[in-house]
Amino acid sequence: MNILNVRNFSIIAHIDHGKSTLADRLLERTGAIEKRKMKEQVLDSMDLERERGITIKMQPVRMEYYGHIMNLIDTPGHVDFSYEVSRALLCCEGALLLVDATQGIEAQTLSHYFLARKLGLTFIPVINKIDLPHARVDEVKLELEKLGGFRPEEIIAVSAKDGTGVEALLDAIIERIPAPRVSKGESRALVFDSFFESHKGIVAYVRVMDGVVKKNDSIFLKARSRECIAKEVGYMTPSLMQREEIVAGDVGYIVTGVKEPGEVRVGDTVILRKDKDTNIEALPGYQEPKPVVWASFFPTEQGAFAQLFDALSKLKLNDSSLSFQEKASMVLGRGFECGFLGTLHLEITAERLKREFHVEFVVTQPSVSYRITKGEEVSIVSSASLFPRRHERDLVEEQWMKLEVVAPRDNLQDVVRTVEAFEGIVGEIAVLGETRLLCNAEVPLRQMVNGFFDALKSATHGYASFSYEIGEWRVADLVRLDVSVHDERVEALSRVIRANDAEREARRIVERVKNVLPQELFQLKIQGEVEGRIVASETLKAMRKDVTGYLYGGDRSRKMKLWKKQQEGKKRLKEQGRVDIEPDVYIKLLGM
Ligand code: GDP
Ligand code: MG
Repeated sequence: MNILNVRNFSIIAHIDHGKSTLADRLLERTGAIEKRKMKEQVLDSMDLERERGITIKMQPVRMEYYGHIMNLIDTPGHVDFSYEVSRALLCCEGALLLVDATQGIEAQTLSHYFLARKLGLTFIPVINKIDLPHARVDEVKLELEKLGGFRPEEIIAVSAKDGTGVEALLDAIIERIPAPRVSKGESRALVFDSFFESHKGIVAYVRVMDGVVKKNDSIFLKARSRECIAKEVGYMTPSLMQREEIVAGDVGYIVTGVKEPGEVRVGDTVILRKDKDTNIEALPGYQEPKPVVWASFFPTEQGAFAQLFDALSKLKLNDSSLSFQEKASMVLGRGFECGFLGTLHLEITAERLKREFHVEFVVTQPSVSYRITKGEEVSIVSSASLFPRRHERDLVEEQWMKLEVVAPRDNLQDVVRTVEAFEGIVGEIAVLGETRLLCNAEVPLRQMVNGFFDALKSATHGYASFSYEIGEWRVADLVRLDVSVHDERVEALSRVIRANDAEREARRIVERVKNVLPQELFQLKIQGEVEGRIVASETLKAMRKDVTGYLYGGDRSRKMKLWKKQQEGKKRLKEQGRVDIEPDVYIKLLGM
């Protein structure tokens, strides 16, 4: 194989602009997949992706076209998964910048484009869905010219659905995207993804940067100093196809046989064992993804703790941005506190654990992190129940999100109103095309777990697209709201709120708890407390159990006696008064 004939590329697009469909056409035209085996969005291998129509995981695939090797790495479009995108891009020399002709450039197109530009990739601008009657090809061309300084003749118009323009696109990939630059030095490969298979162990997806990795080579994984054998090497077509070796410039896989999930890390450098004592440098790995949203998972069945641990460890192989550690709760037992890149990441992770690993668990109220200063000491708190009171701290800071919202002009007011309702600040507003605007804004990260994005979507009837990055820390006036039931604090219901909203928020939560809790044989007090002060209180009436029901007829005094007895019983209950909240009620409470 001649390295000059290799093209490594990726597709950058906003969600639903047609990446996976275009990938299908490329696979078909290059004969990588026989037509009769073709199903739609073939690279979206997870059921979950197919059902939701979104790409969560990239799946690399190798194609051949007129003597050229083309390695396509499909990338996810959602902002929570930009980490996946950046990893894919590091393995590529070029990217297709794909824009839906009926939608135009969207927020996530922008953020991924700028990321790729920083990495020095070569772009091919592509306009998709030109078969649709309401395609606005000329307008979108103008947007692309304005955004990336592309010349009109560079832009390729395609229909990923009917295949129009796909051959011109394949030619452009060969002509415009440069071959990989490789050196003849010692072998090095970058692990950009991995998955677990029970009989093969960990399979690492790699981009070979220098040299060659052969079947049965003794290899060395730098991050954990782990030695193993490359039991099998080859290409993804997209199914694994064995080869004798994979060489510099290529995208391929290595079967490591390693069974412990933590040992093979995404971003790690693979070298040959014989070189391990030389001073070969590790490849620039990836930026460690930093979780911004935290939530805990507790197994619902007894004894399922080990099963949940195993599932999380294996999922982490496939999703290196996931982090977790053990945690214990009075009510829910042993579980894990997990860190996520955003709320969608949390949602997808929970669903994948249930579907792919068949574990049952509950998820606690998500939280973000706060930076607390007390004297000289600075600490990070990412669980609301540990948020300190005023006298325990000097300063609280919280992170903000920097948002880019792309919206039709007509929806600008909706965007502004929503941002402001969530304590945000609207910044610069730029004109994007004829009918659309790009609005910059900043909103406290805390609002992500308070439903900000859902509110933005519904306020703009789904016409706005957005992307965000985590911005700076800012001082905030925040307090902890605790909820107690029958004088006992329910940890999982604690939350961090703005001091100004304390009373309103406390009343809202207490009222909701009252509506969800089942009645007991005695009266229950539900209270909201802020800084040692009760700011909201509700009473849930006792359940009336008619103990006299079976005494029909009977004389009055017997009835009275029984009632009295019952009253005493209730009193005793109340004094001993532990209220055990059943896990299923808990789950309802957590959903508030
Ligand atoms: P992705 O989220 O970028 O991977 O987008 P998909 O490939 O899943 O496509 C999103 C939707 O657009 C699907 O319903 C596709 O069938 C549809 N679609 C993709 N490309 C075209 C096209 O060229 N023309 C038309 N009419 N529909 C398309
Ligand atoms: Mg897709």
